[in-house]
Amino acid sequence: MKREELKTPCYIVMESALKKNLEILQGVRQRTGCKILLAQKAFSMYSCYPLLGKYLDGTAASGLYEARLGAEEMGKENHIFSAAYKEEDMEEILSYCGHIVFNSFSQLEKYGERAAKAGKSVGIRVNPECSTQEAHGIYDPCAPGSRLGVLAKEFPDRLPEWVEGIHFHTLCEQNADALAVTLKAVEEQFGSWLYGMKWINFGGGHHITREGYNIELLENCIRYVSDTYGVTVYLEPGEAVALDAGHLLTEVEDMLHGETIAILDSSAACHMPDVLEMPYRPPLRASGQEGEKAFAYTLAGPTCLAGDVIGIYSFDKPLAVGDRLTFEDMAIYTMVKNNTFNGMPLPSIVWEREDGECEQIRSFGYMDFKGRL
Ligand SMILES: *Cc1c(COP(=O)(O)O)cnc(C)c1O
Repeated sequence: MKREELKTPCYIVMESALKKNLEILQGVRQRTGCKILLAQKAFSMYSCYPLLGKYLDGTAASGLYEARLGAEEMGKENHIFSAAYKEEDMEEILSYCGHIVFNSFSQLEKYGERAAKAGKSVGIRVNPECSTQEAHGIYDPCAPGSRLGVLAKEFPDRLPEWVEGIHFHTLCEQNADALAVTLKAVEEQFGSWLYGMKWINFGGGHHITREGYNIELLENCIRYVSDTYGVTVYLEPGEAVALDAGHLLTEVEDMLHGETIAILDSSAACHMPDVLEMPYRPPLRASGQEGEKAFAYTLAGPTCLAGDVIGIYSFDKPLAVGDRLTFEDMAIYTMVKNNTFNGMPLPSIVWEREDGECEQIRSFGYMDFKGRL
């Protein structure tokens, strides 16, 4: 199939764009000896996992289901971090994961020895209390009162000898300068513990595949930490793996109010929730800011939520019912966050090969709505 033949709405993930990202990440691995995992919470399109697995070391999970998906579909290194594990999930988690990261000393005490005895590498997540982002408070694990990671002052005098790793995750869509600042704070507060560790995980939020990202500084940070402390460095980016690797194809269904508002068959609330949550304005192909091009429209979703508005965009030509629009950078934090509010259909998932041929991977129907209720 060609793009023009696809039914809307659908997510199209592009092999060529994904490979471009993967080659950049593989370069970092090869030049530094670090290991890079896919943070599945950003992108869990598992039909791509065999391809991703050729370039990456494995998967990172936020809970039991992602852990199982990583084990089933990629089958390489599989790490897990959760703010709290449930007793009833622990055996199964241990069967899928080689690295288990705890968020508190109480959880470490409860499960750590059992995990270590099962041959798992146990780590503790730390909070270096070093905020490097201001724009998105809800994405800042170092914000005051954060529940993510233990503080330096909470560390006991001695750690059990089976604790092998330190994990931090404090960044969001940031460059390597923010990592360098964070590493200073991590060293100051946790450096003495690092000498006894086997690994350190720098978390995600490294926008490595974005144009202008300072890869050299990232690599210097990795080399410095692994040389100084004798540890393996892990990164677990989500965004950077599938950045700019997907589109959301949508259609104009109606034009309202003197043709100033276009209703699409895609919803911000259901299909691009970060537009409302973050919030941000998603890039749209062949469009400009309000006032930049001759014809401007408010693009909005079909749900009953008054605020289901994607933004105001301008075009060279008037929009009309039946026109197709392509939202860009729609692979990450989209499919994994979709919902069926208002009984909205879920967009189908399409793989676009390097030769431009499209293959529908999944399509959804009424039962995907009904089955959860
Ligand atoms: C969200 C998250 C990631 C991935 O973050 P990106 O911003 O998508 O790179 C990695 N590790 C942890 C612990 C996370 O919570």
